[in-house]
Amino acid sequence: MADWHSWVGEVLDVDLTSEKITRVPSDKYFPNFLGGRGLEAKVIWDDVPEGTKAFDPENRLIFAPSALTGTNSPMNGRWNIGALSPSHPYEYPSSSAIGGHWGAELKFAGYDGVIVHGKASRPVYLLIRDESVEIRNASNYWGLNAIGGQKKLAADIAAEGSFPDMGEKPETGRYDAINIRSVIIGPAGENSSRIACIMHDSGDCAGQGGFGGVMGSKNLKAISVRGTGAVKAADPQRMMETVYKIRKMLRYKAFPVIPPFGGPGGIYGGNPSILTGFVKRTDSCFGCQVACRGFFDVPGSPPGQAQCVQLQMYNNWEGIGPVAPPHPDFAGREQGETAWYGVRLADELAINSFELMGILSWLWACWKEKIFGSTQAEFEANTGIPKIEDMGSKEFADKLFGMIAYREGEFGELLAEGTHRAAQKLKEKFGNRVWELYEERFVAHGQRQHWFYIGNPKGPADPTGFPNPIGQLMWAMGSRDPYSNASFTRVPFGSTELSEHIYGTAEAANPFNYDGKAQAASISYNRGCMNDSIGFCDWFFPILKVDPFFAEDDEGDEHKVSDLTIEAQVFSAATGIEKTIDDLMKDASRIVNLERAIMVRMGRRRENDTFNEYYFNHPDKRGNPIDRTAWEKVKDDFYAYVGWDPKTGIPTRAKLEELDLKDVADTLDV
Ligand code: SF4
Repeated sequence: MADWHSWVGEVLDVDLTSEKITRVPSDKYFPNFLGGRGLEAKVIWDDVPEGTKAFDPENRLIFAPSALTGTNSPMNGRWNIGALSPSHPYEYPSSSAIGGHWGAELKFAGYDGVIVHGKASRPVYLLIRDESVEIRNASNYWGLNAIGGQKKLAADIAAEGSFPDMGEKPETGRYDAINIRSVIIGPAGENSSRIACIMHDSGDCAGQGGFGGVMGSKNLKAISVRGTGAVKAADPQRMMETVYKIRKMLRYKAFPVIPPFGGPGGIYGGNPSILTGFVKRTDSCFGCQVACRGFFDVPGSPPGQAQCVQLQMYNNWEGIGPVAPPHPDFAGREQGETAWYGVRLADELAINSFELMGILSWLWACWKEKIFGSTQAEFEANTGIPKIEDMGSKEFADKLFGMIAYREGEFGELLAEGTHRAAQKLKEKFGNRVWELYEERFVAHGQRQHWFYIGNPKGPADPTGFPNPIGQLMWAMGSRDPYSNASFTRVPFGSTELSEHIYGTAEAANPFNYDGKAQAASISYNRGCMNDSIGFCDWFFPILKVDPFFAEDDEGDEHKVSDLTIEAQVFSAATGIEKTIDDLMKDASRIVNLERAIMVRMGRRRENDTFNEYYFNHPDKRGNPIDRTAWEKVKDDFYAYVGWDPKTGIPTRAKLEELDLKDVADTLDV
């Protein structure tokens, strides 16, 4: 690895059962599997025995920065955590992106990833300081919430004096002065909730996947990192020139997805009335000039940073986006205070805010239909939740979120298992409508906020439009809400020029049929995987042309034409390994196929590639349910395009060998 750049040389393999720490040379994984999701897929395929369940000690929890993490590449602060997912109904492997500074700090310490397996005999945390890697007793931290736990860890580690420049500055709300970066679980993770997240800082988290529960099942409270090294680019001059090019593009880019702070939508998720008055400054991940997050200071709760998902969670719990009317109980309330209280409480308990948003919506729908009782007293008797009409208050958040995090009562136990498993159980006692209301809100393996209706009058999550046909395929083929990629998929609708540019077919521009959508879905899916594996925030990449918000810049350059190959240019400059964008997309396809092979080994077949039945049986407000025949036909198109057997959905030997995965083909016996 001596002459490598960008990757820093070693991956840590930590067996918590034996407390053995092994330093694995990074060339076992890179460059073929890039990093991020690539590292996760390779480790799970190679090392997780068949039949392993998400909470078994043999499950691997992989903390996976990427090649570009810690360089000066734009927006390289997003990195990934992956494992067999306890939140997925079949516990398929999944991955969750997380922002902040931890990934870069790990690279500065000299590691390209951390693989955790086994189960510690008592609560522990991992402390990584450059060469020094220790498994430490976490009894002083177990039971602390995720924000307080990080503060105490940082203060205690700094007090040891190993790094004399450290000193706590809690008023910043971050830990920059201390430079100890931690990922940590809260009470939900300690209690192995399937919807527990892994927190970092005050607003970054690996939300989806339930990986906080996996961490808790291993008795691992936190991983704290401090690194004093650097991540070196192979060609610094070329790197600087390419980065400058991107920065110029980004200055004129306001679409897709998350505009810079202060833009329409942005951190408010389109609901600026709620928290506008409490923003103190912008906030960002390592190496990002966009800074899409806000740092909030709201009376009655500790300050901290947050982004769109969190900010909608407790003020918009109907779960259909910014257009949803607030609960009547919000009327006359200090909405910002209650909304922020909910955000902070969820972060402290380290519960996935995105799932909570769906739970709140589902509970409210059940209440409106009187399923758990026609009075508040009956509702409480059946659920343990008092005063359902108080949803939206601080007291309600305390009760419901606490029940989930601490598995309080029968209903708390159920919800800690995630909404899918809770609804399955509850329909036995309360009838199938409980399940239907769940299916309506949770699409497949995530709640519907990102189902993205097209042609709707109110917004992308309002069910008066047609569900994004590219998004439908991505939801069906993946193991989680494919939000990042799905945001990419909305862009070409209505523009044949843009559709041709991104997907190589003008047909994908029509949002109301399945023509050209298989190709578009595969390209979107692979492109998202590529960004998750080389280290670009996929909320801003790829940079597209014919962007309606682009303009001529002050140096006279036209920015209406952007560059879909820019990721490859940065990757090549940083690593010294020349790759075109087609090379990187092939690498991404290798990773996607390996992820698929893991799921196939776990039993996944064509019939599992779908979304909830609800959408085939219930018309949207335009009057039509999804046509099952047309849906099966577009799946045929998809399998043909990606090289999977249309009868089974299993990758063909020809495809696997084309991707240098002959050993995988042999194992699958295809
Ligand atoms: S755009 Fe937002 S999420 Fe992406 S790297 Fe920047 S601050 Fe992080």
